[in-house]
Amino acid sequence: MLTAPQFSPAALQMVRARIARAAESAGRDPDSVRLLAVSKQQPAALVRAAVAAGQTEFGENYAQEGIDKVAALADVPGLAWHFIGQLQGNKTREVAECFDWVHTVDRERIASRLSAQRPRDAAPLQVLLQVRLADEPGKGGVAPAEAPALAAAVTAMPRIRLRGLMCIPPPAADLEAQRRPFRRLRELMESLNAAGHALDTLSMGMSDDLEAAVLEGATIVRVGTAIFGRRPG
Ligand SMILES: *Cc1c(COP(=O)(O)O)cnc(C)c1O
Repeated sequence: MLTAPQFSPAALQMVRARIARAAESAGRDPDSVRLLAVSKQQPAALVRAAVAAGQTEFGENYAQEGIDKVAALADVPGLAWHFIGQLQGNKTREVAECFDWVHTVDRERIASRLSAQRPRDAAPLQVLLQVRLADEPGKGGVAPAEAPALAAAVTAMPRIRLRGLMCIPPPAADLEAQRRPFRRLRELMESLNAAGHALDTLSMGMSDDLEAAVLEGATIVRVGTAIFGRRPG
């Protein structure tokens, strides 16, 4: 029999220290970087233990699993849930109803469904455009050249609020190579802001490259393994 996974407050503190150190070396306020604990494939009990250690923001990749965890933690006030997985059209309603943020909007159709399905009595859904930078292998993401048109369309939708950009670059060998795509994402946000947007959020950096992301201006880092250990799946 497998032993139940244990939550280590020391691992969470270590990640917070890594963020703080990178922020300081970039001359940034460590509080300007939010830590999103990626709890996909981890049991709700582990999320609850992380809450007890002071963590309030959680990221989930699968709609149904996320909904179940939101329900399991419904007694805890003040948590924020971020959907960071690939979004299928038939899952937008659940996501619009249960999550506070969506990081993976990459086409107008998904955005308009989220806006139409966001409950009237909830705050607007906070959304990021997932951008597929040149060397990204994954399927998701809008091409940088298409981002201005998508940003304009999303901004016009009533029940969602465009906050920024997100990317998932492939692993890179060294710090300088890790920084390159993050820099491109920051420059894309700067160019959207120069064109009249007021974006304030860059979701970039994971367990292995969070320092590079913070050095390039990440405001949310998404960290799973370094907090919770290896995923059981
Ligand atoms: C799983 C996942 C993460 C966390 O990755 P780790 O390497 O475990 O830190 C971050 N972002 C996305 C989109 C993910 O799917």
